[in-house]
Amino acid sequence: MAETDTHQNLSPLITESADGSSSLLPATQQFGRRGFLNKAGLALAGGCLAGLPGLAEGASFAPSNPFEGEYHRFLQRLRLRRISVDEIISAHHRQRGGVSNTVPPKSMWRDIVPVLKVADRAAREMRCEITGVLSVYRSPAYNARCPGAARNSMHTRNIAIDLRFSIPPSRAAAELRRLRNRGLFTGGIGRYGSFVHIDTRRQNVDW
Ligand SMILES: [Zn+2]
Repeated sequence: MAETDTHQNLSPLITESADGSSSLLPATQQFGRRGFLNKAGLALAGGCLAGLPGLAEGASFAPSNPFEGEYHRFLQRLRLRRISVDEIISAHHRQRGGVSNTVPPKSMWRDIVPVLKVADRAAREMRCEITGVLSVYRSPAYNARCPGAARNSMHTRNIAIDLRFSIPPSRAAAELRRLRNRGLFTGGIGRYGSFVHIDTRRQNVDW
């Protein structure tokens, strides 16, 4: 479609101050969260999850620590249209080798915002659905149990997500590279057998 072939219709979601580098900010700068939220247009709105694909009735979400409910509410305020917040939270419940993953520390919560917005926007641009959230944040201990995971995985910085789309991974990765070329974001795109990895590191990387 012509509308997706022009640069004019796709404003960058990522700014220098809002990309994954935020995880490198000194603690004193991380308290500027309110300003960040306003800049990102994360206004409160009710009913934003109504009809979201993949959001099962009876909600699988059950807080497993005091921060999870708060993180859940933080993510809901992003008003993602094609990613279920319950599925995001569920990805933090997985276990490997007897090690349970966790939600990220609060100081890292906002670091996930850019990549979630990229994925949500990409699904809309590609006119497909997100059918699975496989991995988001990984605690260092959990990451160490993930076969093949880099020690400094972007998942441990809370700037990465592994997703299944309703289109083949090869096509999703190609579409994501096209969107990245148009300025949607800067970061990594990894294609796997059944899913795609996206991250918002400050350089473009493909695998
Ligand atoms: Zn990944």
